[in-house]
Amino acid sequence: MNPDHENIPRQPAAPVILPRSEHTISRKQIDENTLKVLYRLRSHGHKAYLVGGSVRDLLLGRTPKDFDVGTDATPNQVKKLFRNCFLVGRRFRLAHVRFGRDSLVEVATFRRLPREDELPENPDDHFFFAENVFGTPCEDAFRRDFTINALFYDIADFSIIDYVGGLEDLRAHRIRVIGKPEVRFTEDPVRMLRAIEFAARLGFSLDEQTREGIYARAPLIAEAAPARIREELMELFRHRVAADVLRQAQSLGLLSYLLAGFEADNNTFDLLSLIDARTASGQPIEEHLALAALYLSRFWRACPQEDGAPITEVVRIANLVLSPHCGYFHVAHGIRHLARELLVGCYRLARGRGKRGEQRLLRHPLTPQVLELFMLWTKVLGEGQELGASWQKALAKAAEQEEARPAEAPNRRRRGRRRKPRKAKPKSEV
Ligand code: ATP
Ligand code: MG
Repeated sequence: MNPDHENIPRQPAAPVILPRSEHTISRKQIDENTLKVLYRLRSHGHKAYLVGGSVRDLLLGRTPKDFDVGTDATPNQVKKLFRNCFLVGRRFRLAHVRFGRDSLVEVATFRRLPREDELPENPDDHFFFAENVFGTPCEDAFRRDFTINALFYDIADFSIIDYVGGLEDLRAHRIRVIGKPEVRFTEDPVRMLRAIEFAARLGFSLDEQTREGIYARAPLIAEAAPARIREELMELFRHRVAADVLRQAQSLGLLSYLLAGFEADNNTFDLLSLIDARTASGQPIEEHLALAALYLSRFWRACPQEDGAPITEVVRIANLVLSPHCGYFHVAHGIRHLARELLVGCYRLARGRGKRGEQRLLRHPLTPQVLELFMLWTKVLGEGQELGASWQKALAKAAEQEEARPAEAPNRRRRGRRRKPRKAKPKSEV
């Protein structure tokens, strides 16, 4: 028997219903294509709700990232109602309704938690259903992760429907797991990370049982599918809460299972805070920069202290530091390469000005980003800012010179220059 059945009410629970006059969500705040979908489902006799994060965000006065629709229409019924509708999803079929080139509304049929005999054999797939197990709105609310993520906005009368006590938790600024945290975390360990992430994003606190559940089930996160953890990690960086969440994950005993072998020292957390602030200022965060930030402190400590150490040795150390993470999370070669270049680049800048190959370094397309990371790192260390400023000047000058160069000059040079074929080197030199 699936222990999760404890979470499913035997009788449909009577929801708290908040009529339109008692909440602030107005249709003006809802994306117009999502409204079209809701109305059309409704006019064909189906239930049509706005669900998940969008209801939460609207009630909090935030702008939702996306609007998701829940309905009792099956995916095939949805498909028949919309001309531009595609069914997607390997295990659970979702309907994507397209409007023009870049607008898409996701419509999901209400579903319930699976019974044990419906769970997939591969534990990596445990988040997904073995079949399309459709359910009632109440069951759909109870299969969700946190109470504040399980609120519905009903297009029929513009009311909010709450089966799980989410409205109360929203008011109390509290993240609470639906059902028993230990059971729900065993079912899907990634929820532990999501709990901490939502707390940080919304400035909420973790409900006591949820916190205890994380303590108790922390080791299970090591068994979650690496691809999902990798995606959630990037979500932390995109939502500029990487520092807060990883710090909190450490204090709840989750971090060492989440990123095995990751050494979280204060310098790392301080650097991550600066990276989050950079993202908050509007600069997009890329995975190679996130990776370099996570491992810069460790790399720094492992680097040779003496002047004149061969750069090949530094490259070897960067590889060594990044390899376990990149291997485990199947990070693409290109991203790993860029992360390594950022680490090695910081080392080059720290060696000081006037070294061999400086002009080449200044013209390298990645150097501005290396310098940006280096500047943040000097802030963390509280030293080296002057050196950073000197590199900044040199970089600006190099960029000016590059611009002043006549446009056709490089071509002419390239055309005129013929390389002599190289003589094969004797084996011993290779
Ligand atoms: P945002 O998109 O702003 O990050 P969200 O709440 O929309 O927040 P999503 O990851 O887009 O989060 O998921 C949409 C909804 O699906 C959630 O609100 C929640 O109800 C449900 N959900 C997502 N992940 C899980 C999970 N691991 N377990 C149970 N329910 C989940
Ligand atoms: Mg979402």
